[in-house]
Amino acid sequence: MERLAQPRCHDLAVIGGGATGLGVALDAAARGLSVVLLESHDFAGGTSSRATKLVHGGVRYLAQGNLSLVREALHERATLLRNAPHLAQPLAFVMPAYRWWEVPFYGVGLKAYDALAGAAGLGRTEFLGRAQALQALPTLRGEGLKGGVRYWDGQFDDARLAVALARTAARAGALVLNHCEVTGLVHEAGRVAGLQARDRETGRQFQVQAACVVNATGVWVDTLRQCDGAATGRPVRPMVAPSQGVHLVVDAEFLPGRQALLVPRTADGRVLFAVPWLGKLILGTTDTPRDDLPREPRAQAAEVDFILSEIGRYLVRPPTREDVRSQWVGLRPLVRPDRNDGAATRAISREHTVQVSPSGLVTVTGGKWTTYRAMAEDVLAECAAHGLLDAERVNAKEGVTTNLRLVGAEAGAPATDLSQAPGLHLYGAEAAAVRALPGADRALGGGLTEAMVRFAARQEYARTVEDVLARRSRLLFLDARRAASLAGEVAALLRQETGVDPREADFRALAEGYLPAAAGPAATGA
Ligand SMILES: Cc1cc2nc3c(=O)[nH]c(=O)nc-3n(C[C@H](O)[C@H](O)[C@H](O)COP(=O)(O)OP(=O)(O)OC[C@H]3O[C@@H](n4cnc5c(N)ncnc54)[C@H](O)[C@@H]3O)c2cc1C
Repeated sequence: MERLAQPRCHDLAVIGGGATGLGVALDAAARGLSVVLLESHDFAGGTSSRATKLVHGGVRYLAQGNLSLVREALHERATLLRNAPHLAQPLAFVMPAYRWWEVPFYGVGLKAYDALAGAAGLGRTEFLGRAQALQALPTLRGEGLKGGVRYWDGQFDDARLAVALARTAARAGALVLNHCEVTGLVHEAGRVAGLQARDRETGRQFQVQAACVVNATGVWVDTLRQCDGAATGRPVRPMVAPSQGVHLVVDAEFLPGRQALLVPRTADGRVLFAVPWLGKLILGTTDTPRDDLPREPRAQAAEVDFILSEIGRYLVRPPTREDVRSQWVGLRPLVRPDRNDGAATRAISREHTVQVSPSGLVTVTGGKWTTYRAMAEDVLAECAAHGLLDAERVNAKEGVTTNLRLVGAEAGAPATDLSQAPGLHLYGAEAAAVRALPGADRALGGGLTEAMVRFAARQEYARTVEDVLARRSRLLFLDARRAASLAGEVAALLRQETGVDPREADFRALAEGYLPAAAGPAATGA
């Protein structure tokens, strides 16, 4: 906060600490630019902690024939797995076939997926006979099963990866702050020249100057765009049409083992996954348009029932609402078709959009976690092309993040095993540093130790019980009731470490919303 208060003009100010903003901050800092990043809540507190946790090329884009998009995502998949092996790993997916034509039909498409990956491939697609499919997924419904196809993608821990990006950016010199909200933009002579911010812990206000300001606030980008438009007297049309995706978490015994199940076509024509993750099984997701932007969206009863019934058709023991340990909802920032509001909008072929407003505010939204690094490169190229950053400095170190290992992934760091319950394996090269802290042998439950809470506060920017139990540990997402039961102990440790109120009561209320209604309709509100 003292660094933020210093009177200086940064090269770049990034607003929003999700995958997109953190990727931009890291890329810019690694190229030697002076960078500040402000996140109003916590890193990955928005959509970026609520993904299906797949590092993927996007099988569905293949079906649409969008080969360049898939090829690039497959390349980014390999890059991410290489640069954060403590948080991301390859994962086998089995697509079961109950009709004779499904094995060759899907198999041929997935062979093309392998071909597009080329040297970045993670494993060969295989056609499975009935017995092999059942061996891979022992709880798969056997009746009518003809066989299956096994292909490879990746999976990761999204929130911990976000924190690793923040810390790697800080190591490269960026000033990254969470719980610090951008409340407005500063304009000089009709151009964006900085921003106003407020520390949400103390209420202290800051004015920050920057040559270039990037709005990476996910589904919330339109708020700052409206601010920009109002200051310059130009009307701004909304860019984002949000859609929500629900995930449910059940015990791993519903699909034991290390391979995921892919349902190739649901009743509404999408794919659905059952993915082993941190000792549990994630089921999801849905795609339901909404017209509001709550911080904590809730699942609709129909969405919960849809996931349970679609997955249930494939398993010998279908999960019920009573089996759900946690449910969470993320908002997709889908970009509306082109608006004509005078801004230079580039709906780049791969889902994300970078827009530079007439006043120079750069907005980036859309895309996916897997391609955050490529998106960051596009944003910096666009900033340079518009003269907002020094093109020579930006271009001199183009591609610098391709081989940049993230904090915790230093050479020799052990690879993770994300099918296992949470533990020290998620800390990579830093496991020894965690073990050296007080309380290393004091387990609090759910894979969390006293030392991990201390490490979260000292090294990982955790300030609140929610930061620790939702995103440094993922217990809220794995088992909401268990997470609530640890709130008191985590709060006491955080108070010792930080001296500030860790907002225990807020967390208990939040955890209620991650518990599904046992019977009757699930909550629909925000
Ligand atoms: C259901 C679902 C499943 C998905 N699954 C996958 C997947 O498996 N694999 C994959 O690759 N991608 C997946 N995605 C896509 C991926 O999660 C998103 O593309 C990505 O997380 C978006 O990141 P973001 O940084 O743009 O947005 P966010 O993560 O929402 O970040 C924006 C941040 O801006 C902050 N902010 C807002 N206003 C302000 C302000 N005024 N001041 C400061 N900060 C502010 C917010 O607090 C937030 O943290 C999924 C998305 C959804 C919705």
